[in-house]
Amino acid sequence: MIVMKFGGTSVANFEAITRTIFIIGGKLDQKPVVVVSALSKVTDLLYRISDAAASRNVEEMEMLLAQLRERHVNLAGDLLAQSPALKEDAVAEVNRICDSLDSLARAVCAVGELSDRNKAIIISNGELLSSTVICYAMNAKGIRTGFIDARRMMVTNDSYLKGEPVVEEILTRVPGMVEEAYRGMDAVITQGFIASNLKGEQTVLGRGGSDYSASLIGLAVDAERIEIWTDVDGVRSADPRKVENTKYLEKISFEEAAEMAHFGAKVLHPLTIEPAVKKNIPIYVLNSMNPSGKGTAILRSELIEDGVKSVSFKENIRVINIFSMRMINTSGFLRRVFEIFSESKVSVDLISTSEANISVTVDAAEKIEAVVKQLSEFAEVIVDDDKSQVSVIGKNIVKLNGMLKRTFAPLKRCNVYMISQGASFVNISFVVDREELTEVVQSLHHHLFETPEELETF
Ligand code: ADP
Ligand code: ASP
Ligand code: MG
Repeated sequence: MIVMKFGGTSVANFEAITRTIFIIGGKLDQKPVVVVSALSKVTDLLYRISDAAASRNVEEMEMLLAQLRERHVNLAGDLLAQSPALKEDAVAEVNRICDSLDSLARAVCAVGELSDRNKAIIISNGELLSSTVICYAMNAKGIRTGFIDARRMMVTNDSYLKGEPVVEEILTRVPGMVEEAYRGMDAVITQGFIASNLKGEQTVLGRGGSDYSASLIGLAVDAERIEIWTDVDGVRSADPRKVENTKYLEKISFEEAAEMAHFGAKVLHPLTIEPAVKKNIPIYVLNSMNPSGKGTAILRSELIEDGVKSVSFKENIRVINIFSMRMINTSGFLRRVFEIFSESKVSVDLISTSEANISVTVDAAEKIEAVVKQLSEFAEVIVDDDKSQVSVIGKNIVKLNGMLKRTFAPLKRCNVYMISQGASFVNISFVVDREELTEVVQSLHHHLFETPEELETF
Protein backbone atom coordinates (compact mmCIF):
# COMPACT_ATOMS: atom_id res chain seq x y z
CA MET A 1 0.00 0.00 0.00
CA ILE A 2 1.17 3.56 -0.68
CA VAL A 3 -0.15 6.95 0.42
CA MET A 4 -0.44 9.68 -2.24
CA LYS A 5 -1.16 13.18 -0.95
CA PHE A 6 -2.16 15.90 -3.40
CA GLY A 7 -1.90 19.52 -2.27
CA GLY A 8 -4.09 22.44 -3.28
CA THR A 9 -2.33 23.24 -6.56
CA SER A 10 -2.49 19.58 -7.63
CA VAL A 11 -6.28 19.70 -7.35
CA ALA A 12 -6.79 23.37 -8.24
CA ASN A 13 -9.04 22.96 -11.30
CA PHE A 14 -10.19 20.68 -14.13
CA GLU A 15 -6.73 20.34 -15.72
CA ALA A 16 -4.92 19.72 -12.42
CA ILE A 17 -7.44 17.12 -11.24
CA THR A 18 -7.36 15.36 -14.62
CA ARG A 19 -3.55 15.13 -14.34
CA THR A 20 -3.81 13.95 -10.74
CA ILE A 21 -6.30 11.19 -11.60
CA PHE A 22 -3.98 10.07 -14.40
CA ILE A 23 -1.08 9.86 -11.91
CA ILE A 24 -3.19 7.82 -9.47
CA GLY A 25 -4.40 5.58 -12.30
CA GLY A 26 -0.80 4.63 -13.05
CA LYS A 27 -0.24 3.31 -9.52
CA LEU A 28 -3.30 1.19 -8.79
CA ASP A 29 -1.15 -1.94 -8.50
CA GLN A 30 0.42 -0.34 -5.40
CA LYS A 31 -2.96 0.13 -3.68
CA PRO A 32 -2.98 3.89 -3.17
CA VAL A 33 -4.67 5.64 -0.27
CA VAL A 34 -5.25 9.07 -1.78
CA VAL A 35 -5.26 12.05 0.59
CA VAL A 36 -6.42 15.38 -0.83
CA SER A 37 -6.27 18.98 0.30
CA ALA A 38 -8.87 21.60 -0.49
CA LEU A 39 -8.67 23.14 -3.97
CA SER A 40 -6.03 25.84 -4.15
CA LYS A 41 -7.00 28.97 -2.12
CA VAL A 42 -10.24 27.41 -0.84
CA THR A 43 -9.09 27.15 2.78
CA ASP A 44 -8.18 30.87 2.65
CA LEU A 45 -11.66 31.55 1.29
CA LEU A 46 -13.22 29.59 4.16
CA TYR A 47 -11.19 31.63 6.66
CA ARG A 48 -12.57 34.77 5.02
CA ILE A 49 -16.09 33.36 5.28
CA SER A 50 -15.62 32.72 8.99
CA ASP A 51 -14.21 36.24 9.49
CA ALA A 52 -17.10 37.80 7.58
CA ALA A 53 -19.61 35.79 9.62
CA ALA A 54 -17.95 36.68 12.93
CA SER A 55 -17.94 40.37 12.04
CA ARG A 56 -21.53 40.14 10.79
CA ASN A 57 -20.60 41.28 7.33
CA VAL A 58 -23.55 39.54 5.65
CA GLU A 59 -22.96 40.87 2.16
CA GLU A 60 -19.34 39.75 2.03
CA MET A 61 -20.21 36.39 3.59
CA GLU A 62 -22.98 35.66 1.06
CA MET A 63 -20.73 36.66 -1.81
CA LEU A 64 -17.93 34.33 -0.65
CA LEU A 65 -20.31 31.43 0.02
CA ALA A 66 -21.71 31.79 -3.48
CA GLN A 67 -18.17 31.80 -4.94
CA LEU A 68 -17.32 28.60 -3.08
CA ARG A 69 -20.46 26.82 -4.26
CA GLU A 70 -20.10 27.98 -7.85
CA ARG A 71 -16.47 26.88 -8.08
CA HIS A 72 -17.26 23.33 -6.92
CA VAL A 73 -20.51 22.94 -8.84
CA ASN A 74 -18.78 24.08 -12.05
CA LEU A 75 -15.84 21.81 -11.41
CA ALA A 76 -18.10 18.77 -10.87
CA GLY A 77 -19.96 19.72 -14.04
CA ASP A 78 -16.74 19.89 -16.09
CA LEU A 79 -15.15 16.73 -14.67
CA LEU A 80 -18.32 14.67 -15.01
CA ALA A 81 -19.63 16.07 -18.29
CA GLN A 82 -19.53 12.59 -19.87
CA SER A 83 -21.34 10.86 -16.95
CA PRO A 84 -24.67 12.64 -16.39
CA ALA A 85 -25.87 10.36 -13.57
CA LEU A 86 -22.67 10.73 -11.56
CA LYS A 87 -22.69 14.46 -12.29
CA GLU A 88 -26.16 14.84 -10.85
CA ASP A 89 -25.16 12.97 -7.66
CA ALA A 90 -21.90 14.90 -7.30
CA VAL A 91 -23.61 18.28 -7.74
CA ALA A 92 -26.29 17.27 -5.22
CA GLU A 93 -23.58 16.29 -2.75
CA VAL A 94 -21.69 19.57 -3.28
CA ASN A 95 -24.92 21.48 -2.74
CA ARG A 96 -25.66 19.51 0.44
CA ILE A 97 -22.21 20.35 1.89
CA CYS A 98 -22.58 24.01 0.87
CA ASP A 99 -26.12 24.23 2.31
CA SER A 100 -24.93 22.99 5.66
CA LEU A 101 -22.02 25.46 5.60
CA ASP A 102 -24.40 28.30 4.65
CA SER A 103 -26.64 27.53 7.65
CA LEU A 104 -23.72 27.45 10.06
CA ALA A 105 -22.24 30.68 8.66
CA ARG A 106 -25.65 32.40 8.96
CA ALA A 107 -26.04 31.19 12.55
CA VAL A 108 -22.59 32.53 13.42
CA CYS A 109 -23.45 35.80 11.70
CA ALA A 110 -26.70 36.10 13.67
CA VAL A 111 -24.87 36.03 17.00
CA GLY A 112 -21.68 37.71 15.74
CA GLU A 113 -19.52 35.29 17.67
CA LEU A 114 -17.30 32.53 16.36
CA SER A 115 -16.01 29.76 18.60
CA ASP A 116 -12.93 27.77 17.61
CA ARG A 117 -15.21 24.76 17.40
CA ASN A 118 -17.41 26.37 14.75
CA LYS A 119 -14.41 27.79 12.95
CA ALA A 120 -12.96 24.27 12.64
CA ILE A 121 -16.25 23.07 11.12
CA ILE A 122 -16.26 25.95 8.63
CA ILE A 123 -12.67 25.51 7.44
CA SER A 124 -13.05 21.71 7.11
CA ASN A 125 -15.39 22.14 4.18
CA GLY A 126 -12.65 22.65 1.61
CA GLU A 127 -11.35 19.11 1.98
CA LEU A 128 -14.88 17.64 2.17
CA LEU A 129 -15.79 19.33 -1.09
CA SER A 130 -12.59 18.51 -2.97
CA SER A 131 -12.56 14.84 -1.92
CA THR A 132 -16.22 14.43 -2.87
CA VAL A 133 -15.77 15.87 -6.36
CA ILE A 134 -12.50 14.01 -6.99
CA CYS A 135 -13.98 10.71 -5.78
CA TYR A 136 -16.81 11.02 -8.30
CA ALA A 137 -14.35 12.02 -11.03
CA MET A 138 -12.12 9.00 -10.32
CA ASN A 139 -15.09 6.67 -10.51
CA ALA A 140 -16.17 8.31 -13.74
CA LYS A 141 -12.71 7.60 -15.17
CA GLY A 142 -13.13 3.91 -14.34
CA ILE A 143 -11.09 3.88 -11.11
CA ARG A 144 -13.45 2.28 -8.60
CA THR A 145 -12.79 4.50 -5.58
CA GLY A 146 -13.96 4.08 -2.00
CA PHE A 147 -14.56 7.22 0.10
CA ILE A 148 -13.44 7.59 3.72
CA ASP A 149 -14.52 10.45 5.92
CA ALA A 150 -11.25 11.30 7.69
CA ARG A 151 -13.17 12.64 10.69
CA ARG A 152 -14.04 9.05 11.59
CA MET A 153 -10.45 7.84 11.73
CA MET A 154 -8.14 10.80 12.40
CA VAL A 155 -8.43 11.60 16.09
CA THR A 156 -6.92 14.59 17.84
CA ASN A 157 -7.06 16.22 21.25
CA ASP A 158 -9.55 19.02 21.93
CA SER A 159 -7.56 21.79 20.28
CA TYR A 160 -10.05 22.56 17.52
CA LEU A 161 -7.79 24.55 15.20
CA LYS A 162 -4.45 22.86 15.83
CA GLY A 163 -5.42 19.37 16.92
CA GLU A 164 -2.65 17.16 18.19
CA PRO A 165 -3.13 13.60 16.92
CA VAL A 166 -4.01 10.85 19.37
CA VAL A 167 -1.71 8.44 17.59
CA GLU A 168 -2.75 5.18 19.30
CA GLU A 169 -6.38 5.85 18.39
CA ILE A 170 -5.45 6.65 14.78
CA LEU A 171 -3.39 3.47 14.55
CA THR A 172 -6.37 1.48 15.82
CA ARG A 173 -8.98 3.04 13.55
CA VAL A 174 -7.25 3.65 10.20
CA PRO A 175 -6.28 0.13 9.04
CA GLY A 176 -9.80 -1.31 9.49
CA MET A 177 -11.49 1.65 7.81
CA VAL A 178 -9.09 1.60 4.88
CA GLU A 179 -9.55 -2.14 4.47
CA GLU A 180 -13.31 -1.81 4.56
CA ALA A 181 -13.34 1.07 2.06
CA TYR A 182 -11.03 -0.90 -0.24
CA ARG A 183 -13.45 -3.84 -0.55
CA GLY A 184 -14.17 -4.30 -4.29
CA MET A 185 -12.31 -1.05 -5.08
CA ASP A 186 -9.18 -0.02 -6.98
CA ALA A 187 -8.32 2.92 -4.70
CA VAL A 188 -9.59 4.85 -1.70
CA ILE A 189 -9.71 8.59 -1.14
CA THR A 190 -9.84 10.62 2.05
CA GLN A 191 -9.22 14.17 3.24
CA GLY A 192 -6.08 15.69 4.66
CA PHE A 193 -6.18 18.33 7.41
CA ILE A 194 -9.52 17.38 8.97
CA ALA A 195 -10.10 15.22 12.01
CA SER A 196 -12.24 15.00 15.12
CA ASN A 197 -11.64 14.71 18.85
CA LEU A 198 -12.61 11.73 20.99
CA LYS A 199 -16.06 13.26 21.51
CA GLY A 200 -16.59 13.28 17.75
CA GLU A 201 -16.36 17.08 17.43
CA GLN A 202 -14.56 18.35 14.35
CA THR A 203 -10.98 19.55 14.57
CA VAL A 204 -8.24 20.40 12.07
CA LEU A 205 -4.49 19.78 12.21
CA GLY A 206 -3.45 23.39 11.53
CA ARG A 207 -2.52 25.11 8.26
CA GLY A 208 -0.77 22.90 5.75
CA GLY A 209 -1.77 19.87 7.84
CA SER A 210 -2.63 17.53 4.95
CA ASP A 211 1.00 16.42 4.70
CA TYR A 212 0.82 15.44 8.34
CA SER A 213 -2.45 13.52 7.76
CA ALA A 214 -0.78 11.61 4.91
CA SER A 215 2.16 10.65 7.04
CA LEU A 216 -0.03 9.53 9.96
CA ILE A 217 -2.11 7.42 7.59
CA GLY A 218 1.10 6.01 6.09
CA LEU A 219 2.24 4.98 9.54
CA ALA A 220 -1.14 3.40 10.33
CA VAL A 221 -1.34 1.31 7.14
CA ASP A 222 2.36 0.46 7.18
CA ALA A 223 2.76 2.11 3.78
CA GLU A 224 5.66 1.24 1.51
CA ARG A 225 6.09 4.93 0.75
CA ILE A 226 4.38 8.26 1.25
CA GLU A 227 4.17 10.51 -1.78
CA ILE A 228 3.62 14.24 -1.33
CA TRP A 229 2.55 15.61 -4.70
CA THR A 230 2.91 19.37 -5.02
CA ASP A 231 3.83 22.11 -7.51
CA VAL A 232 7.66 21.95 -7.39
CA ASP A 233 10.10 19.29 -8.63
CA GLY A 234 10.94 18.23 -5.09
CA VAL A 235 12.63 19.85 -2.14
CA ARG A 236 15.08 22.58 -3.12
CA SER A 237 18.00 24.19 -1.35
CA ALA A 238 15.83 27.22 -0.48
CA ASP A 239 12.35 28.57 -1.12
CA PRO A 240 12.37 29.30 -4.86
CA ARG A 241 9.92 32.16 -4.28
CA LYS A 242 12.57 34.04 -2.33
CA VAL A 243 15.94 32.83 -3.58
CA GLU A 244 17.36 32.62 -7.11
CA ASN A 245 19.22 29.60 -8.49
CA THR A 246 18.05 27.15 -5.84
CA LYS A 247 19.33 23.62 -6.25
CA TYR A 248 17.21 20.50 -6.62
CA LEU A 249 17.92 17.97 -3.88
CA GLU A 250 17.72 14.36 -5.02
CA LYS A 251 17.68 12.94 -1.51
CA ILE A 252 17.79 14.24 2.03
CA SER A 253 17.54 12.62 5.44
CA PHE A 254 14.50 12.54 7.69
CA GLU A 255 16.38 14.80 10.12
CA GLU A 256 17.32 17.32 7.42
CA ALA A 257 13.74 17.42 6.11
CA ALA A 258 12.30 17.81 9.61
CA GLU A 259 14.69 20.67 10.40
CA MET A 260 14.00 22.37 7.07
CA ALA A 261 10.24 22.16 7.58
CA HIS A 262 10.43 23.20 11.21
CA PHE A 263 12.69 26.14 10.36
CA GLY A 264 10.47 27.56 7.66
CA ALA A 265 10.57 25.54 4.39
CA LYS A 266 6.86 25.58 3.59
CA VAL A 267 7.09 22.64 1.22
CA LEU A 268 6.23 20.25 4.07
CA HIS A 269 4.20 20.62 7.25
CA PRO A 270 6.76 20.60 10.11
CA LEU A 271 5.41 17.41 11.70
CA THR A 272 5.21 15.33 8.50
CA ILE A 273 8.44 13.48 9.13
CA GLU A 274 7.71 12.34 12.68
CA PRO A 275 5.25 9.49 11.91
CA ALA A 276 7.22 8.28 8.86
CA VAL A 277 10.44 7.98 10.85
CA LYS A 278 8.80 5.61 13.33
CA LYS A 279 8.59 2.88 10.70
CA ASN A 280 11.29 4.19 8.41
CA ILE A 281 8.82 4.87 5.59
CA PRO A 282 10.42 6.84 2.76
CA ILE A 283 8.70 10.08 1.75
CA TYR A 284 8.90 11.36 -1.83
CA VAL A 285 8.16 14.97 -2.72
CA LEU A 286 6.94 15.01 -6.33
CA ASN A 287 5.62 17.46 -8.88
CA SER A 288 2.12 16.72 -10.20
CA MET A 289 2.82 19.00 -13.17
CA ASN A 290 5.90 16.95 -14.05
CA PRO A 291 5.04 13.43 -12.91
CA SER A 292 7.96 11.74 -14.67
CA GLY A 293 10.46 13.72 -12.56
CA LYS A 294 12.32 11.88 -9.82
CA GLY A 295 11.34 14.24 -7.02
CA THR A 296 13.14 14.25 -3.70
CA ALA A 297 13.49 11.13 -1.61
CA ILE A 298 13.48 11.63 2.16
CA LEU A 299 15.28 8.66 3.66
CA ARG A 300 17.01 7.45 6.77
CA SER A 301 20.19 9.28 7.61
CA GLU A 302 22.67 6.49 6.85
CA LEU A 303 21.78 6.78 3.16
CA ILE A 304 22.52 10.49 3.01
CA GLU A 305 25.82 12.31 2.57
CA ASP A 306 27.13 14.95 4.94
CA GLY A 307 27.03 18.58 3.83
CA VAL A 308 24.92 21.71 3.48
CA LYS A 309 21.49 21.07 1.98
CA SER A 310 19.43 24.15 2.63
CA VAL A 311 19.08 27.76 3.68
CA SER A 312 15.65 27.99 5.31
CA PHE A 313 14.05 30.96 7.01
CA LYS A 314 11.11 32.18 9.01
CA GLU A 315 10.32 35.64 7.81
CA ASN A 316 8.33 37.07 10.69
CA ILE A 317 9.45 36.18 14.18
CA ARG A 318 9.91 37.93 17.51
CA VAL A 319 12.76 37.81 19.95
CA ILE A 320 11.74 37.84 23.61
CA ASN A 321 14.64 39.02 25.78
CA ILE A 322 14.31 38.21 29.48
CA PHE A 323 16.69 39.96 31.89
CA SER A 324 16.97 39.20 35.58
CA MET A 325 19.77 39.45 38.10
CA ARG A 326 18.01 36.65 39.94
CA MET A 327 19.12 34.28 37.24
CA ILE A 328 22.72 34.50 38.42
CA ASN A 329 23.71 31.54 40.53
CA THR A 330 20.17 30.33 41.13
CA SER A 331 18.72 27.04 40.07
CA GLY A 332 15.16 26.69 38.84
CA PHE A 333 15.06 30.04 37.00
CA LEU A 334 15.03 28.50 33.54
CA ARG A 335 12.43 25.97 34.60
CA ARG A 336 10.14 28.76 35.75
CA VAL A 337 10.58 30.68 32.51
CA PHE A 338 9.86 27.68 30.28
CA GLU A 339 6.91 26.56 32.39
CA ILE A 340 5.29 29.89 31.56
CA PHE A 341 5.83 29.31 27.82
CA SER A 342 4.54 25.78 28.12
CA GLU A 343 1.41 26.69 30.10
CA SER A 344 0.49 29.33 27.51
CA LYS A 345 1.25 26.84 24.71
CA VAL A 346 3.69 29.26 23.10
CA SER A 347 6.25 27.32 21.12
CA VAL A 348 9.87 28.46 21.32
CA ASP A 349 12.32 27.98 18.43
CA LEU A 350 15.79 29.26 19.34
CA ILE A 351 17.21 29.87 22.79
CA SER A 352 20.38 31.59 23.90
CA THR A 353 21.45 32.58 27.37
CA SER A 354 24.06 34.74 29.06
CA GLU A 355 24.69 35.36 32.71
CA ALA A 356 21.59 37.40 33.42
CA ASN A 357 19.65 37.10 30.18
CA ILE A 358 17.68 34.57 28.19
CA SER A 359 16.61 35.31 24.63
CA VAL A 360 14.14 33.13 22.77
CA THR A 361 12.52 33.37 19.37
CA VAL A 362 8.82 32.73 18.72
CA ASP A 363 6.73 32.89 15.59
CA ALA A 364 5.06 36.30 15.19
CA ALA A 365 1.67 34.54 15.01
CA GLU A 366 2.04 33.23 18.58
CA LYS A 367 -0.07 35.01 21.19
CA ILE A 368 2.54 36.14 23.69
CA GLU A 369 0.69 38.72 25.83
CA ALA A 370 0.07 36.31 28.74
CA VAL A 371 3.68 35.08 28.66
CA VAL A 372 5.11 38.59 28.70
CA LYS A 373 2.80 39.58 31.56
CA GLN A 374 3.81 36.63 33.72
CA LEU A 375 7.52 36.95 32.96
CA SER A 376 7.36 40.65 33.78
CA GLU A 377 6.40 39.77 37.36
CA PHE A 378 9.98 38.69 38.05
CA ALA A 379 12.10 39.86 35.11
CA GLU A 380 12.55 42.72 32.69
CA VAL A 381 11.14 41.71 29.32
CA ILE A 382 11.91 43.36 25.99
CA VAL A 383 10.22 42.09 22.84
CA ASP A 384 11.88 42.80 19.48
CA ASP A 385 9.46 42.63 16.56
CA ASP A 386 10.17 42.49 12.85
CA LYS A 387 12.95 39.96 13.01
CA SER A 388 13.66 36.97 10.77
CA GLN A 389 15.30 33.68 11.55
CA VAL A 390 17.69 32.05 9.09
CA SER A 391 18.86 28.43 9.32
CA VAL A 392 21.61 26.63 7.45
CA ILE A 393 20.74 22.95 7.43
CA GLY A 394 22.61 19.80 6.47
CA LYS A 395 23.80 16.52 7.90
CA ASN A 396 26.80 16.96 10.21
CA ILE A 397 27.45 20.54 9.07
CA VAL A 398 28.39 21.47 12.58
CA LYS A 399 31.37 19.14 12.26
CA LEU A 400 32.56 20.66 8.97
CA ASN A 401 35.73 22.64 9.28
CA GLY A 402 35.18 26.33 8.49
CA MET A 403 31.39 26.04 8.39
CA LEU A 404 30.75 28.91 10.78
CA LYS A 405 33.14 31.14 8.86
CA ARG A 406 31.38 30.28 5.61
CA THR A 407 27.97 30.93 7.13
CA PHE A 408 28.79 34.31 8.61
CA ALA A 409 31.30 35.61 6.06
CA PRO A 410 28.65 36.92 3.65
CA LEU A 411 26.84 38.77 6.46
CA LYS A 412 29.52 41.35 7.10
CA ARG A 413 27.30 44.39 7.13
CA CYS A 414 24.17 43.25 8.95
CA ASN A 415 23.37 42.84 12.63
CA VAL A 416 23.09 39.27 13.87
CA TYR A 417 21.04 39.11 17.07
CA MET A 418 21.10 35.50 18.20
CA ILE A 419 23.08 32.48 17.09
CA SER A 420 22.15 28.93 17.87
CA GLN A 421 23.91 25.80 16.77
CA GLY A 422 21.72 22.73 17.05
CA ALA A 423 22.83 19.88 19.25
CA SER A 424 21.83 17.57 16.39
CA PHE A 425 24.77 18.75 14.20
CA VAL A 426 22.21 19.53 11.47
CA ASN A 427 21.40 23.15 12.02
CA ILE A 428 23.03 26.57 12.48
CA SER A 429 20.45 29.32 13.01
CA PHE A 430 20.59 33.06 13.60
CA VAL A 431 18.35 36.11 13.76
CA VAL A 432 18.52 39.25 11.59
CA ASP A 433 16.33 42.30 10.98
CA ARG A 434 13.38 41.42 8.80
CA GLU A 435 14.24 44.14 6.29
CA GLU A 436 17.62 42.45 5.70
CA LEU A 437 16.18 38.96 5.15
CA THR A 438 16.03 38.84 1.37
CA GLU A 439 19.58 40.06 0.95
CA VAL A 440 20.86 37.76 3.69
CA VAL A 441 19.31 34.57 2.31
CA GLN A 442 20.24 35.41 -1.27
CA SER A 443 23.86 36.09 -0.47
CA LEU A 444 24.17 33.23 1.98
CA HIS A 445 22.67 30.79 -0.52
CA HIS A 446 24.95 32.11 -3.26
CA HIS A 447 27.98 31.77 -1.03
CA LEU A 448 27.15 28.25 0.16
CA PHE A 449 25.85 26.73 -3.05
CA GLU A 450 27.33 28.67 -5.95
CA THR A 451 30.89 29.28 -4.81
CA PRO A 452 31.88 25.77 -3.82
CA GLU A 453 34.87 25.37 -1.61
CA GLU A 454 36.13 22.17 -0.11
CA LEU A 455 34.99 21.73 3.45
CA GLU A 456 36.71 19.09 5.49
CA THR A 457 35.57 17.29 8.55
CA PHE A 458 37.92 17.84 11.42
P1 ADP B 1 0.73 22.17 -1.45
O1 ADP B 1 -0.47 23.01 -1.70
O2 ADP B 1 0.98 21.15 -2.51
O3 ADP B 1 0.78 21.60 -0.06
P2 ADP B 1 2.62 24.22 -0.62
O4 ADP B 1 2.37 25.57 -1.21
O5 ADP B 1 2.20 23.96 0.78
O6 ADP B 1 1.98 23.15 -1.61
O7 ADP B 1 4.15 23.84 -0.74
C1 ADP B 1 4.83 23.93 -1.97
C2 ADP B 1 5.56 25.26 -2.07
O8 ADP B 1 6.57 25.29 -1.06
C3 ADP B 1 6.34 25.46 -3.33
O9 ADP B 1 5.52 26.04 -4.32
C4 ADP B 1 7.47 26.38 -2.92
O10 ADP B 1 7.22 27.69 -3.30
C5 ADP B 1 7.48 26.33 -1.40
N1 ADP B 1 8.78 26.03 -0.82
C6 ADP B 1 9.31 26.64 0.27
N2 ADP B 1 10.51 26.18 0.56
C7 ADP B 1 10.80 25.23 -0.36
C8 ADP B 1 11.92 24.39 -0.60
N3 ADP B 1 13.00 24.41 0.19
N4 ADP B 1 11.86 23.52 -1.63
C9 ADP B 1 10.79 23.49 -2.43
N5 ADP B 1 9.70 24.28 -2.27
C10 ADP B 1 9.70 25.14 -1.26
N1 ASP C 1 -6.21 23.00 3.11
C1 ASP C 1 -5.41 23.16 4.29
C2 ASP C 1 -4.63 24.46 4.22
O1 ASP C 1 -4.70 25.16 3.23
C3 ASP C 1 -4.50 22.00 4.54
C4 ASP C 1 -3.46 21.74 3.48
O2 ASP C 1 -3.60 22.18 2.34
O3 ASP C 1 -2.49 21.06 3.79
O4 ASP C 1 -3.99 24.82 5.17
MG1 MG D 1 1.33 22.32 1.84
